[in-house]
Amino acid sequence: MIRLKRRKLTKDAAANERPFDNWKSFERDYERQLRKVAKEIQRILEFAATPNDLSLAEKRLEAYVELLSPWADKQAERMVSRVFEANERRWARHLRQSGFDLRGVMQRGDLAPKIAELRIEAAGYIRSLPIEAATRVGELAQQAAMYGMRPAAIEQNLIDLYGMTENRARLIARTEVARSNSILVQARAESLGSRAYIWQTSEDTRVRESHIEMNGKVCYWDSPPKLSDDTETHPGQIYNCRCIALPLLSDEEVKGALGSGHREHEPRVWPGVEPEPASSGSASLGGNDITTNEERVAQTLHTQELAIKDLGHEEGVIVGTNGDIIHHEKGQAHSVAPPPELIKDNIFTHNHPSGTCAFSLSDVKSIISGDGYEVRTVTSDGRFVSLARGASGWDSALGDDMAKAGLNDSGLFMKADNRAKSKYGHGRTARQRRQEIEAIMNGWLRDNAEKYGYVFTEGKI
Ligand SMILES: [Zn+2]
Repeated sequence: MIRLKRRKLTKDAAANERPFDNWKSFERDYERQLRKVAKEIQRILEFAATPNDLSLAEKRLEAYVELLSPWADKQAERMVSRVFEANERRWARHLRQSGFDLRGVMQRGDLAPKIAELRIEAAGYIRSLPIEAATRVGELAQQAAMYGMRPAAIEQNLIDLYGMTENRARLIARTEVARSNSILVQARAESLGSRAYIWQTSEDTRVRESHIEMNGKVCYWDSPPKLSDDTETHPGQIYNCRCIALPLLSDEEVKGALGSGHREHEPRVWPGVEPEPASSGSASLGGNDITTNEERVAQTLHTQELAIKDLGHEEGVIVGTNGDIIHHEKGQAHSVAPPPELIKDNIFTHNHPSGTCAFSLSDVKSIISGDGYEVRTVTSDGRFVSLARGASGWDSALGDDMAKAGLNDSGLFMKADNRAKSKYGHGRTARQRRQEIEAIMNGWLRDNAEKYGYVFTEGKI
């Protein structure tokens, strides 16, 4: 069990603290090692002047890959070990400052699979230098033979290739050191139950615009944020990125950060924290304040549903008919159970990570028994289904009648599977089965809306 003393996390404190930085010397060392590989590649290429020489150089590069392998493993192991050790010392300090008891914190053994993964990956990148050079030389040999390339042209091509190899060696060294560090930070943070972190850019002048925009933002470990350049990554886990993640070790720390001016990049629901209105800072909306409840509800649902739709587990939000967020419930892989007493007259929305955009019978039953206003399900492809109470209230027979119609989970699954089998044969896919589940369930709800007096809607969020 980890004991935690609360610590006030202010924007300034977070900005002055760079607990997982300062790996520049490892980076330089690693770069020096990788340059040796680039040099060796240059030596192999040096005297190639004819198509025949090029073919020979290709074979020598391939042989070099084999020779290089044990050395590459050793260098990768050394780099990852050094990053691991530095990372461990900084963690210890960071955790002590945060008031954590260090017992129970992930030890080297627990991180062994991650370390092995990083080592294998890093060694693979080293080997990729001669592998890629061999491929290019092979192509060049063919071109040279085909078009009768002059020795001067061959030489220029080889000089370019050497330059590229050197650049790649530098890029790999930088990226891999930062990436190993970032992945170890993530593994350790998540093992402590951390869900979020603050993105911090390096003070480097070369920070990309799309990363500058992320500075100080709260992001979540479970899905890498999507940046304005369309990449999806945690800090330090993409080529040439020296940004770092400052882990927020508990939900209290997340709330503290949100309460002290840090904004979420992709907003989630935090009970007790006033969410930023979606229109905040947007000039296009001008003074056009939202006045009607319906618009506020739509806006809240939109923001919340965007935040939950891609999660790998179910998460639910209860929204009032005035648009207020009433409750947030983190569920399991395939279920989420909000407090029934909070459902009454409210809207309950949740995601189906399975991708099936259809209610389960228990979704329907719980909105009826809680006398809720509306239940909604969203999927990662941005679709939703909605079941809302009609003017004369819920028909208490609806749940039982659906069960009798074979719409309980197992009945529905079998029906859908049979339909998928008759359409697509034994090669039916899970996706085809999901489509049949949607067709059966949504079809039934569409057809029976008038009979039971509810409103059923399907669409895009
Ligand atoms: Zn960056």
